[in-house]
Amino acid sequence: MRPPIIEKTASDLRLPPNWPASEQPGPFFWTTEAAALAGLPGGGLNLAYEAVDRHARGDRAEHIALRLLDGEGGSRDISYAQLSALSNRFANVLRGLGVAPGARLFILCERGLELFLGVLGGLKNGCVVSPLFSAFGPEPIATRLRLGEGSILLTSETLYRRKVAGIRAELPALRHVLVHGQRADERVAHGCLDLQSLMAQADETFSIARTRADSPSLLHFTSGTTGMPKGALHVHGAALTHYVTGKYALDLHPEDIYWCSADPGWVTGTSYGILAPLLLGVTSIVDSAEFDAERWYSILEQQRVSVWYTAPTAIRLLMKAGVALAQRHRFPDLRFIASVGEPLNAEAVWWGKEVLGLPIHDNWWQTETGGIMIANLLAWPIKPGSMGKPLPGVEAAIIEHREDGTLRFLAAGKVGELALKQPWPAMFRAYLGQEERYRRCFAGNWYLSGDLARRDADGYYWFVGRGDDVIKSAGHLIGPFEVESVLMEHPAVAEAAVVGKPEPLLGELVKAFVALKDGYQPSAALHDELLGHARKRLGAAVAPKELEFQAQLPHTRSGKLMRRLLKARELGLPEGDTSTLENPR
Ligand code: ATP
Ligand code: MG
Repeated sequence: MRPPIIEKTASDLRLPPNWPASEQPGPFFWTTEAAALAGLPGGGLNLAYEAVDRHARGDRAEHIALRLLDGEGGSRDISYAQLSALSNRFANVLRGLGVAPGARLFILCERGLELFLGVLGGLKNGCVVSPLFSAFGPEPIATRLRLGEGSILLTSETLYRRKVAGIRAELPALRHVLVHGQRADERVAHGCLDLQSLMAQADETFSIARTRADSPSLLHFTSGTTGMPKGALHVHGAALTHYVTGKYALDLHPEDIYWCSADPGWVTGTSYGILAPLLLGVTSIVDSAEFDAERWYSILEQQRVSVWYTAPTAIRLLMKAGVALAQRHRFPDLRFIASVGEPLNAEAVWWGKEVLGLPIHDNWWQTETGGIMIANLLAWPIKPGSMGKPLPGVEAAIIEHREDGTLRFLAAGKVGELALKQPWPAMFRAYLGQEERYRRCFAGNWYLSGDLARRDADGYYWFVGRGDDVIKSAGHLIGPFEVESVLMEHPAVAEAAVVGKPEPLLGELVKAFVALKDGYQPSAALHDELLGHARKRLGAAVAPKELEFQAQLPHTRSGKLMRRLLKARELGLPEGDTSTLENPR
């Protein structure tokens, strides 16, 4: 049996952690931290200025901001000074087109330089920037552009041709489309502007729009795990949350080589793929290619990545690929691994420790929170399976929100809704076009996350399930995560998803869907063995009554299990919004 706590040893703490284990945040935590931000010369606050120009004007000007990998073994380095100049050029392109502050700029780009220039230059020009998954098909792109009233789109020639040209007529509000990556001998696609030639003519200096902490900055669509994606609007003041969480939750130090492997279409890809590392002045690895276990291990090794931020879905894929592959590589520079997006099974935390030499640090946040809120910090002991403790400056609680609108704060051990005391710098300020829904997220001073969790006596938080995913069976409240984690303990199981299936006697019956690791085949014996294992570990009331093998479980493009889809398919109901589904069938 593995111990319930992983204590940190000297080999885990190769650099002094930014947040020492015993430290407590003082009453002026946020004010003190805010001193690290410069503010715009002459007043105001702009995320891109803080992320790039602050360094470009200081002693990190020549430090590498981005190392762009082209997927074929080549790479290109961009310094903070270059990133500042190039994003200024892009901002000048926008200004030259008459794009006013507040205009909505959508970005449909692969992970590459243009994505960074679009986000940073857009923010400098005061635009509200909305990055989209480049793997989206035309329909989800059109829906988001319409909902977000996008007036400018930055995309690549290939993506334009494949995905946008056909829907352009449906988007009358879209005034400008900037395309990059055209071959010199090609004509500019009809109705588009060639980014390269506009950039070449644009000036390298730019007077940043006078944005303030409460000016809108980014528009992020949620993952659509539980329904139609919602557009969450963020502000420039979020810079402080990104800075603080990059420093403490990711423990970024000045000489780190950092890799965030999330897609830019997902909030993690922007908050922690673009902004937080730049705010801390570190070097980011930017990989344009898709997931491939061997390639990813090679990146970690060859690029000497020291801090890696990833997601459970990627970790499960690496686990599935087998230990032997990992053991062909060495990771002497890697000193911190974090994960977000879904519950991280204890198995995965231990796999990190045993195979990569470091435990994986789970953390929790949402599109709505804009940044990490609950985390396992480097210096803190890990309880595998727990998402950690509230970050310094964050106040969390487990509450019961009663029908009459009052709140009851629940004691340690009790399951309730995870709530955060508002405000914090990166809190979302609206759900686009859904004012009432936004209001319903708050009760008094508290933001209600919609996730169920419990806190233990040591203050660690344990994820139970999304409000919508929790199963009510014979009077028990069953969190799918607990059941899935137990199934994952079995050596044959690569991934499990558990849903409630209506049943007259129990109310809901626990049904498990299981994908097997490479080398295992579904069989009646394995079916019974898995049910038996779950019953032994969980007891008959909580263990699944039904189990079905599937070659692959459905995920969102940000890698989350779509339990609602499994349930709808099981019940023969409409599948609902599937715009964020990976590999739609
Ligand atoms: P939608 O709101 O459209 O259904 P979504 O909630 O998946 O989609 P995101 O904002 O990308 O959209 O994801 C946030 C959610 O992801 C959290 O509310 C939580 O349910 C889940 N999550 C994130 N991190 C963790 C974690 N460390 N452990 C458990 N769940 C997590
Ligand atoms: Mg959500």
